[in-house]
Amino acid sequence: MPPRVVILTGAGISAESGLGTFRDAGGLWADWPLADVATPEGFARNPALVHEFYNARRRNVLDSHPNAAHEALAMWEMDRAGEILIVTQNIDDLHERAGSRAVIHMHGEVLGALCAACGARWPAPERMDPADPCPACRAPATRPDVVWFGEMPYRMDAIEAALSGCELFAAIGTSGQVWPAAGFVERARAAGARCVELNLEPSAVAHRFHEVRLGPATRIVPDWAAAERGRPPQPAAG
Ligand code: NAD
Repeated sequence: MPPRVVILTGAGISAESGLGTFRDAGGLWADWPLADVATPEGFARNPALVHEFYNARRRNVLDSHPNAAHEALAMWEMDRAGEILIVTQNIDDLHERAGSRAVIHMHGEVLGALCAACGARWPAPERMDPADPCPACRAPATRPDVVWFGEMPYRMDAIEAALSGCELFAAIGTSGQVWPAAGFVERARAAGARCVELNLEPSAVAHRFHEVRLGPATRIVPDWAAAERGRPPQPAAG
């Protein structure tokens, strides 16, 4: 059975946990140019700089805690197992620490390491270094297990299948500027799902949703999730 509810989350859901977003004023891209730290070409040019950037992100994640928005989604899954799937663009593990289990990290996880030479994966040490050897093949080609611009997001087949079969699609805390995630609303809507955006300010694709709720995630997500959990299944919205 496909999940009835698919929830796309972005950096905004973790903002109140103290993890910076990318595109808001004072966001991470202001200090760290995207082309330098989040592309394969940037990594080839200067792997030490890229590791420095993700080492700092990893430290921030380890120091942070799930907030009321992560917890509301986890409670939903605990209450109705199998009903919801979270597809997150976030590389933190705050959904899992809140208790969510059905989570797809389409952009990878900063707490994971990947060997660019042999594809092995293992838990990242707190600090990664360009000279670290892969534990499987020994090549000094280790990188954070995150998807950079220009790379294919993970598990797109499973995501596409879930979007095609869901009844409710919600996007929380995402700017709608990163593809293919920004196109998920179109996909879910074409399949007949009701589409709701929850964000601090309208995203670039807000006009494609049936409903937009504005405010900080910790305030608007718990109320919305509680209301949706109590709702009987709806006919397709079209
Ligand atoms: P983004 O930075 O482009 O946009 C953030 C969005 O969150 C904006 O629309 C903003 O209005 C909204 N927002 C900010 N504070 C909010 C709050 N308190 N409550 C609700 N919404 C809030 O982020 P994005 O759309 O996720 O896309 C960019 C990429 O950033 C993704 O690929 C992701 O991997 C990466 N990213 C991840 C993290 C993380 O893992 N926590 C942090 C920063 C960036």
